[in-house]
Amino acid sequence: MEMEMEMEMKEDVVIIGAGIAGLATALGLKRVGIRALVLEKSPELRTTGAALTLFPNAWLALAALGLTKKLDSLYAPYKGGYITDVSNGAVQEIHYPRIDGVISGPRTMQRRNLLAALAEELPADTIRFSTKISNSFETRIIDGATIIILHLDDGTMIKTKILIGCDGVHSKVAHWLGLSAPISSGRWAVGGLARYPQGHGFDHKFQQFLHEGRRAGITPINDTELQWFLVSNSSHNTGDEMNTYDPKLVQKNVLESLTDIPMVYDVVLGTDASSLTCSSLVFRVPWNVLFGKLSDGNITVAGDAMHPMTPEIAQGACSALEDAVVLVRHIGNSFHEHGKIIPGEVSKAIELYVKERRWRVTALITGSFLSGWVQQIRSGWLTNFFRDKIFYKFIYGRIADFVSYDCGKLPHNPSPIDEKLD
Ligand SMILES: Cc1cc2nc3c(=O)[nH]c(=O)nc-3n(C[C@H](O)[C@H](O)[C@H](O)COP(=O)(O)OP(=O)(O)OC[C@H]3O[C@@H](n4cnc5c(N)ncnc54)[C@H](O)[C@@H]3O)c2cc1C
Repeated sequence: MEMEMEMEMKEDVVIIGAGIAGLATALGLKRVGIRALVLEKSPELRTTGAALTLFPNAWLALAALGLTKKLDSLYAPYKGGYITDVSNGAVQEIHYPRIDGVISGPRTMQRRNLLAALAEELPADTIRFSTKISNSFETRIIDGATIIILHLDDGTMIKTKILIGCDGVHSKVAHWLGLSAPISSGRWAVGGLARYPQGHGFDHKFQQFLHEGRRAGITPINDTELQWFLVSNSSHNTGDEMNTYDPKLVQKNVLESLTDIPMVYDVVLGTDASSLTCSSLVFRVPWNVLFGKLSDGNITVAGDAMHPMTPEIAQGACSALEDAVVLVRHIGNSFHEHGKIIPGEVSKAIELYVKERRWRVTALITGSFLSGWVQQIRSGWLTNFFRDKIFYKFIYGRIADFVSYDCGKLPHNPSPIDEKLD
């Protein structure tokens, strides 16, 4: 009989998914002196998804991870923006004040540039690409401590003390924890990246247009690149199901539904269809995040794996970065206190992480959903009054406070990182 040999690896921390949450967590862990292995099912870092708008809360998290020095000069914050109701031409102007001499507005950057900036800081062997875990994983008590055992599709077995699921919306780790599957919001988003080598000529401000169940907009990245998006209440603009759509057909349908918004129409017309992305907007019901099991011993989730949310207040990636900092702060404190990862102690640290995040991410999911709903309800005097006189005047500003949240710093690393990692 032929014996199959299974290769065995031992790790302190395994992170599943090399997206924003996974890479930010691995980088934070490196900063506090802990090595992590990141398993990514794709053969390379994700390049789709055009751009992301990152609010000050994300920038504070990136600062805690030591990344803003290299990003600050490339991505300037918006001073403000405009929200236009196409049905009556009313324009709401949004201003972002200076706080401590710095403009408090969001910035837009290419998703792949953020992933690359995070990945560049990690030791070369941190990410293992084209690696999938088999459907389930198990926990075993070894020498009195709980160890997590993962089986990879290539037959490798990994024993790890900590498992962090950063595996996105359809997270296997979230499923294992018993969290509910994300549900559809009924809205779809299409986005693209337009390039103007000679300069696009727009101010460094965002533009948003609302009309009859649609929300379209432009967010400049720098002088030569900008992102546009269209969110609509139905899938008729997207042609087909996600992943099987034909970008040229999607572009044609988007153009047809933007004839009354010429500013965005022209930008979409000048966009290379290959940069288009199209997604059905899903979220996890907030009460499942509030009351569900977000961790089990040394297994937890971060980013979309924990709290998939619709993108209306652009908080998915921002809050994934916050998650990384908070999780690493608690794991790092435990590590520094004991000089090593002690599974029983780390599970307490993970509980603290869950406690710190639960309410905030529940509020973000809810705020995102409501914000999308109020901005895309069909026009009528009552809905317009609520949206323009109440939502934008009183509630939008509150959301602005929410997106300036400071998730705090990483713990000081008492010993030089590279010595510990070698
Ligand atoms: C249309 C749209 C616009 C958005 N705009 C914004 C915005 O402007 N600002 C903002 O902050 N957020 C925005 N978001 C949200 C943001 O994209 C997500 O919140 C963010 O990408 C979450 O990062 P993540 O690392 O948790 O997940 P992901 O980016 O999805 O990364 C998950 C990673 O895990 C990998 N993976 C999955 N399963 C496995 C497995 N079994 N084994 C190994 N690897 C696996 C995937 O390949 C992927 O690389 C937007 C979302 C959408 C849909």
